[in-house]
Amino acid sequence: MRVLITGGAGFIGSHLADVLVAQGNHVTVLDDFSTGRHENIAHLEGHPLFNLVYADIGEEAIVRDCVAAADRVFHLASAVGVRLIVEQPVRTIETIVHGTSVVMKACSRYRKPVLLTSTSEVYGKSTKVPFSEEDDLVIGPSYRRRWAYACSKALDEFLAMAYWHHSRMPVVIVRLFNTVGPRQTGQYGMVLPRFVQQALKDEPLTVYGDGSQTRCFCHVKDAVGALVRLMELPEARGEVFNVGSDEEVSIRELAERVIRITGSQSSIKYIPFEEAYGADFEDMQRRVADLSKIRQAIGYKPRFSLDDIIGDVADHYTRKSGKVPQRASSRG
Ligand code: UDP
Repeated sequence: MRVLITGGAGFIGSHLADVLVAQGNHVTVLDDFSTGRHENIAHLEGHPLFNLVYADIGEEAIVRDCVAAADRVFHLASAVGVRLIVEQPVRTIETIVHGTSVVMKACSRYRKPVLLTSTSEVYGKSTKVPFSEEDDLVIGPSYRRRWAYACSKALDEFLAMAYWHHSRMPVVIVRLFNTVGPRQTGQYGMVLPRFVQQALKDEPLTVYGDGSQTRCFCHVKDAVGALVRLMELPEARGEVFNVGSDEEVSIRELAERVIRITGSQSSIKYIPFEEAYGADFEDMQRRVADLSKIRQAIGYKPRFSLDDIIGDVADHYTRKSGKVPQRASSRG
């Protein structure tokens, strides 16, 4: 099968490319390397089943050609990370909304099955935990820049759904919860790679707020496995699925676990949200995935525990620094 992955040089896209190439698919990655990185896919270059197109997702003619040549389209290209969204709101909105519009139009024109990766951020500050696919989306006011991300991604979902209702364009929507693992960078705000890097350097771990806010962290390999299976499930078309973990942990406890697992001498430093992200910032207190729907659809069950994940991310950064990992990761 010929598969197109937009944003395939990114953290999640590159893991997806690995799986699809290993399965014998011909994979084309389209990426503009704005947040994607060459080192994520360097090992695939020269592989007979791998092809790289260096282009912006907004370039209609290129996207159209790539979609026309593909049997399946995984649309992952997007602005990512709370820091990037707060610092570059215009780029965030334009990349997400315009990029998805271009991809959907091409998929509709050639009737290509497409999987849209949305985000748990669309649930916003809803307090009805765990979040289920049918729940209302509760986002904050437009002067708070963070919500531009949720709103743009929600619009992507509405657009994909509109194509499905209008012309039965085969589309699956996936809401990715906090997805972590090797290759993720902390540059755009993501907490786990930041904590692990801080711990490995014995620097203080920077917990924003009082650390009582909770998240559920899913290993990228579990997430990518779910994307591949949902794409091939006929009943998934026109549906939205949560993909993530339901092992809830507070950010304070996450910091403590990272320190323990890496054997670090680090302390924890509490930083007010205003200092981290500016005065208009608003965080959500709890974010937990209701996984009933995906469990029923594909028997989904995350294989990696939070401790496995922390170990894997620590090994990744230790290797990058040229040291020998002390703790072997427990899953392949
Ligand atoms: N966070 C933190 N320290 C950091 C980066 C993030 O305490 O250095 C917090 C952040 O405020 C949020 C949680 O960790 O409450 C998860 O942040 P991330 O950006 O990874 O994902 P989010 O769930 O906010 O999209």
